[in-house]
Amino acid sequence: MSLVVAKFGGSSVASIEKIKNIACRVRDMKMKGQQVVVVVSAMGDTTDDLIQLAGATGEFLNGREMDMLLATGEQQSAALLALTLNNLGCPAVSLTGWQAGIKSDSAHSKAKINGIENCRIKKEIEAGNIVVIAGFQGISPQGDITTLGRGGSDTTAVALAASLKADRCMIFTDVDGVYTADPRIVPEARKLNRISYDEMLELAVLGAVVMQPRAVEVALAHQIDVEVRCSFNHNPGTIITKEDKMEKEVMVTGVAHDVNCARFAIFDVPDQPGIAKTLFKALAKEGINVDMVIQAAMRDGRNDIAFTIGRDDLQKAVEAIGKLVEEIGASGMSYGDDVAKVSIVGAGMQTNPGVAADMFEALADEGINIHMISTSEIKVSCLIDKDCVETAVRALHRKFELDKI
Ligand code: ASP
Ligand code: MG
Repeated sequence: MSLVVAKFGGSSVASIEKIKNIACRVRDMKMKGQQVVVVVSAMGDTTDDLIQLAGATGEFLNGREMDMLLATGEQQSAALLALTLNNLGCPAVSLTGWQAGIKSDSAHSKAKINGIENCRIKKEIEAGNIVVIAGFQGISPQGDITTLGRGGSDTTAVALAASLKADRCMIFTDVDGVYTADPRIVPEARKLNRISYDEMLELAVLGAVVMQPRAVEVALAHQIDVEVRCSFNHNPGTIITKEDKMEKEVMVTGVAHDVNCARFAIFDVPDQPGIAKTLFKALAKEGINVDMVIQAAMRDGRNDIAFTIGRDDLQKAVEAIGKLVEEIGASGMSYGDDVAKVSIVGAGMQTNPGVAADMFEALADEGINIHMISTSEIKVSCLIDKDCVETAVRALHRKFELDKI
């Protein structure tokens, strides 16, 4: 008998009505003769609400207690779905992360799954039950409840599919799949039938919030095909899978954009060993992730260093770097959150020169100025003014003819 792991995100379980809908869907899977393991997220905005509730106590930095609290969101939806399934005459049992044997490290709020002792799940499947597992949670070596980072139910689902050697892993969400660009900006954006792990990873990291990046990493590591599809219709979704030659003929697969970034520049930094270390260690100490970094060519023994960070980290960076400007002998700094990042992603870029030039041309034709550029083997990103971002996304979508994919 084939085994399916199906994950339903927060928007798919946001109300009892929606839970009833997906219960029917799960029942239909079971009636087709499949064994079904379901992973659920918390209902709607429950996780955000719980974080706010904790904030009201004045103490939300206690990782252990925060995880204890946040894990209840998924427990609630798992139990409600199991109740609904039982009411439909489908035997179902809900399990918390620890009951399901999901062993994690002890990094509260961003724990990693170390392994899954799946005997309880297997026992329940063999007893004929649909197993509904609370996503986003595990148990640490100390026996404490952990959570796996925002969006972590995706990772739960993919890790379970790997552990149970499932035949299919499906991520049900509120969009039809992975698109060539955000359809709210580009109405002609196309849903991709397939996308490679590497491309998906770039897109996920670039802020196309269809799937948690870590879940894509787990899928890649275990070579699990994952289908992202919509829980509100029966359209086929996008399959995240191994790269094949067909894909490589397409140079660019998608355009992503991110408006949650900020720019930072430090002027006339002395050109000496150890300066970059001092600056970036200070940022790391504050837990600030740096994205693009540029060091301009040296003139008169000095150069400018510019970088981008998440918009939420800007204030922390201003404080951390502000203290250092004088110490390192720089002449000043400038920063702002008036920027956005547009990126093109495609496995075919590796073997096709000129893709970056085409990107710059498309932006130039719209009169859009590029502040910074960064690249990987399968991605080119440009930092531009925030108010140009929609024009840029549309121009790039046209340039690479993504409406014809
Ligand atoms: N409920 C958690 C969150 O909102 C985990 C998830 O949805 O996957 O981040
Ligand atoms: Mg969620």
